[in-house]
Amino acid sequence: MIYLDYSANTPVSQEVLERFCYVSQNFTGNPNSAHKAGEQAKKLQDEITLSISSQLNVHPEEVIYTSGATESNNLAIKGIARSERHTGKHIITTPLEHPSVSAPLTALQSQGYEVDMVNIDRSGKVDLEHLRSLLREDTVLFTVCAVDSELGTIQPIEGIVNILKNFPNCRLHLDATQAVGKIPFDFSSADTVSFAPHKFYGIIGIGVLIKKKHLIIEPLIHGGSSSSIYRSGTPTLALNSATETALKIALENQPKRYQKVEKLNSLLRAKLSEYPKVTINSPADAIPHILNLSVQGVKGKAFQQALSEKGVCVSVKSACSTDNLPSRAVFAVSRNRKNALSSWRISLSHLTDETELERFIEIFDSCYKEITSL
Ligand code: PLP
Repeated sequence: MIYLDYSANTPVSQEVLERFCYVSQNFTGNPNSAHKAGEQAKKLQDEITLSISSQLNVHPEEVIYTSGATESNNLAIKGIARSERHTGKHIITTPLEHPSVSAPLTALQSQGYEVDMVNIDRSGKVDLEHLRSLLREDTVLFTVCAVDSELGTIQPIEGIVNILKNFPNCRLHLDATQAVGKIPFDFSSADTVSFAPHKFYGIIGIGVLIKKKHLIIEPLIHGGSSSSIYRSGTPTLALNSATETALKIALENQPKRYQKVEKLNSLLRAKLSEYPKVTINSPADAIPHILNLSVQGVKGKAFQQALSEKGVCVSVKSACSTDNLPSRAVFAVSRNRKNALSSWRISLSHLTDETELERFIEIFDSCYKEITSL
């Protein structure tokens, strides 16, 4: 099998798994229990949060553990919208968002919130002038992915932050799920930031929301005390500790891993560009981990299936989209419905090796010849 879908999920690293097992086996107490075992667990919980917060350069109180980036996005978006409802009900977003951002926005629309879509340019970047023109006194939130999951476009965060400075009622939420561990990321730039460690060799089932200390948001899940008042439930100590380890490894190795992936991406782009019916949809300055392409006249799903039959795993749209509609992100940049319907995504890792890519190209070549000659 050739796995080229690392933006959907990554394999758990041995060190992370060992940490998870160690904490699961050695810390039985609930961190909220007032006995020795509970105290030990609470001490570890605090150490983990302190370590995560110092790695991200944020305050420990700003770290909220959730079940995944989907929950983190929901918590930030609904939480801000609901707590700010007396200031306004206007929200701005982009056509590139993952369903875990666009779906809560749709839900809010049905509750009377107004959602505007900012224009993006041909590389998928937010049109800053258009953003400025959409912002109003009652705009309470601008939510955007720092890096989008389909094209790999990196958003001009600094430019966005500068514009928002003139709109103090508007909070900024960044979905950094495809950014953390892949590129340097400044957590202080936004009011809330979401990510999940299963995208950087951590474990599935946990996500993180970084929320500015003084920002009040309405929780999604109400219940007993936890490590944060914003998210109830017994603290997931072993998952939290595994996240700390995954984060440490990812951040320490980020530049080295990036270089390797960049080299693989250049190789892939060069090879794929030799095919006349191939359009590369990812912009040249996208993160190298993501390469989105279309084979003209062939539905993305059909090409994915042909590759899958030969043991290659790539994805069509985001793994979380189940419909058979054209990719909204690819349509937004190419303005071409057929091209968007033909698009699919290769996502790379530092674990990918050149031999694997060469074998992929051979398989791609045979699928291309078979399908395009039909
Ligand atoms: N946001 C982005 C940009 C993603 O790529 C994903 C997953 O693919 C998510 C959010 C959702 O993450 P999770 O599966 O952890 O809920």
